[in-house]
Amino acid sequence: MSNKIERIFGKNLFHDEVMKQYLPPETYAALQRSMTGGEELDPEAADVVAEAMMKWAVERGATHYTHWFHPLTGVTAEKHNSFIELDGKGGIRLSLSGKSLIKGESDASSFPSGGLRANFEARGYTAWDCTSPAFLKEDNEGGGVTLCIPTAFCSYNGEALDQKTPLLRSMEALNKHALRILRLFGDTETRRVITNVGAEQEYFLIEREFFEKRWDIRLTGKTLMGAAPLKGQSDSSHYYGAITDRVARFMNELDEELWKLGITAKTKHNEAAPCQHEMAPVYATANIACDQNQLVMEMMKKIARRQGLACLLTEKPFPHVNGSGKHNNWSIGTDTGHNLLEPGKTPYDNAQFLIFLSAVIRAVDKHAALLRLSCASASNDRRLGGYEAPPAIISMYLGDDLIDLIEKVKSNVEQPERALTLRFGVPTLPQVYRDSTDRNRTSPFAFTGNKFEYRMPGASQSISECNTVLNTIVAESLDHIATRLEMADDFAAEVREIFRDILFGHERILFNGDGYSKQWEEEAARRGLPNFTNTVDAIDALKYPQTRRLYETYGVFTAPELDARYEVLLEQYTEQVLLEARVAADMARRQVMPVCTEYMSRFAGWIVASRTAGLDCSAMDDDLVALDNACAKLGRRLERLEKVLRLSLPGDKKAAAVFARDEVLVKTQALCSACNSLERLVPRDLWPMPTFDDMLYEGIE
Ligand code: ADP
Ligand code: MG
Repeated sequence: MSNKIERIFGKNLFHDEVMKQYLPPETYAALQRSMTGGEELDPEAADVVAEAMMKWAVERGATHYTHWFHPLTGVTAEKHNSFIELDGKGGIRLSLSGKSLIKGESDASSFPSGGLRANFEARGYTAWDCTSPAFLKEDNEGGGVTLCIPTAFCSYNGEALDQKTPLLRSMEALNKHALRILRLFGDTETRRVITNVGAEQEYFLIEREFFEKRWDIRLTGKTLMGAAPLKGQSDSSHYYGAITDRVARFMNELDEELWKLGITAKTKHNEAAPCQHEMAPVYATANIACDQNQLVMEMMKKIARRQGLACLLTEKPFPHVNGSGKHNNWSIGTDTGHNLLEPGKTPYDNAQFLIFLSAVIRAVDKHAALLRLSCASASNDRRLGGYEAPPAIISMYLGDDLIDLIEKVKSNVEQPERALTLRFGVPTLPQVYRDSTDRNRTSPFAFTGNKFEYRMPGASQSISECNTVLNTIVAESLDHIATRLEMADDFAAEVREIFRDILFGHERILFNGDGYSKQWEEEAARRGLPNFTNTVDAIDALKYPQTRRLYETYGVFTAPELDARYEVLLEQYTEQVLLEARVAADMARRQVMPVCTEYMSRFAGWIVASRTAGLDCSAMDDDLVALDNACAKLGRRLERLEKVLRLSLPGDKKAAAVFARDEVLVKTQALCSACNSLERLVPRDLWPMPTFDDMLYEGIE
C-alpha cells in the first residue's frame, strides 16, 4: 500500500480486521454476537478479548488503559491505569483482565448527577460498550500511548449518568419498531435497523498569542466584548476560499490523526466567517459517530495548540460574524446497507419510504420542543436565531418534489413531473442530474435527498443528545404506525391512509420558505409552533407529561434520570452565565477601566497644555467629554453587575436560572456594550486586549 491514507487508516483502532487477527475464531464470533446485542460475552471470552486488546495495544507502545466515557459535562472523561500487576514473585507483569475490560469503578461524585448521587454514595460504574471499537490515544509530546475503552457510565443504583447510555437505549427502541414495519413490508432479511449520523463540525482557528491574551476566550471559549470588526463577512470571500498554507498544515495534521483513529475525515473547507472552517467525516452508526465527534473536537484543540493556534468550538465566539454549528445528518438504515429514507425514482409508489418519511414528520411535529431542547445551552442561545443560524423554531423542509408528492396524495390530483436534468447552456459542460431536493439553508431540519440535516446543534455540543431525541421520537411514531398496520385488513389502503392522516395532522411543521424571515416567526406563531428563544424556557419540555411518557415507554430515561437531567441542564446554564459575568466584570474592572481612565487623564493633560499654548481645543474637548461619559457609563454598569453578583442565588434551580438570565446576563451584556463603545474611543495600541480586527484579519488569514 503506497497511499498515505491506506497506510495509516485505522492504525490506532481495534477494528474488525485486528480483532480477527488477534482473537481465536470462537472468541471473535462470540464478540460479534455480543456486539449485535445477541448475547452477553461470558467471563472467559472477556478475558481472551482483554488479553488480545492489551497485546495489540502494548505492541503499539501502550503502557496504560482507560475507560473512556461521556459524563454530563459535554466532554469526555478518562482515568488511566497502567497494565502493571504484581506477579507474586517480587516482580511485575502486564495484565488487563476481562473484568477490568468490562467494568470499571470510579469515584464519580464530582461529575454532574442532578441529585442522583450524594457525596456519601459516590460509587459510579463504567461498563464496556463493545459496539464502539477501542482505540489508542497518542500523547505526541510525552510519547505515551493509552488504550481507550469506550464505556457507559452509571450510578451505584444503575441510573445513567452519561450521554452514551440513553443514546444506546434509543437506538434499541428505534430498531425494535422499525423492524416491525420492515417485517410488515415482507422484509425477512434485515436483522437490525440503525441510525446513521454524519456530523459536519464547524470551528474557528486563531493565533495562540491572541487566545492567551483574551481572558474571555480562555475561560469561556468566546469573546464577551469587542467592537464590531471593520470588515465583517459581507463580501463572502472566505466561504470555500483557497486554504492558506498555515490552515492547510492544521487541516493535514488533523486528517492524519483522525485517519489513524479510523475516523473517515472526508470534507474540509473554509466557512463563511473569517477564520472559520469545517470538517465532515463519512457518516457512521449513531453511537460511533458520537464517540468519533468527541475525538474530532479533542483532536482539533490539541493540534491547534501544537501548531501555535487555538481552535474555538464555542457556538458564537465572535458576534457580527457567523457562529459555529454542528450539522447533524441523520438517516435510518438496515444492517444490509439499505437506506430507509431513500425515496428511489418513484417515491409516490414507494410505500415503505412514505411510511418512514411520515414517521419522521409526525415525530418532529409532536416533539418539536424536545428536539429544540436537545441543543439548548447558554452558548447556543447566542447563536440560534442570530445571523446565519437557524431560528429557534423547529420546522421541516422537504423540498419541492416531496411537497408535490404530498399535494398529490392529499388532493389525488396529478402534479406535473419536474425535469431532473440541468443544462448549463455551454456545449463543453456536461449535463448533470440534479438532486430531487434543493437546499434550504434556513431550515433547521431539512430533508436533503436521503437523510435529514438537523442544523441547530451547537459546534461544541455532544451530538448524543439530539440523536437520542431523534431516535426516540421516531421510534414512538414507528410504533404507532406499526400498530395501525398490524391491525389493518387492507395493508396498501392503510399505508395511504396513514400517510394522509399524518400529513393532515402535522402539516404545520412543514415549511419550505425562508426560515430567517420575520414573517415566518409570525406565521409559525399562528401555526402554534413552539419558539423557545432561550434555554431556560426550552427546558420545561423535560417536564411535559408526554415527554415523560415517551421516555419511560421506550426505556430511554427513567423518571429519576429525567429529573436529574433537568437539574443538570439548569445548573449548567446558571453556572455558565455566572462565569461569563464574573469574567466580563473582571476584564472591565482590571483591564478596560484602568486603560480608559489613564488615557482620559493624559488627554485632559494635553488639553491643558494645548490651551496654555493658545490652541483652540474644541474638538479635543468634545472627545474628552465623550470619553468621560463612556467611562462613567461603564462605571455605573460595572457596579450594577458586581452588585447583582454579590447577591445569593435563589435556592430553587429554575428560579436561579431565571435570575441568571434576567438579571445577570442582561447586566453582563449592558456592561460589555459599554466596553465596546470605549474601544472605539481609545487608541488601538492602548487597548488592553486583541481586537476583532486583530484576531480575525491579522493572524492566520
Ligand atoms: P453539506 O453539503 O451539507 O455541507 P457535507 O459533505 O459537508 O455536506 O456533509 C454531509 C454529511 O452528511 C457527511 O458527514 C456525510 O457523510 C453525511 N451523510 C451522507 N449521507 C448520509 C446518510 N445517508 N445518513 C447520514 N449521514 C449522511
Ligand atoms: Mg458541509
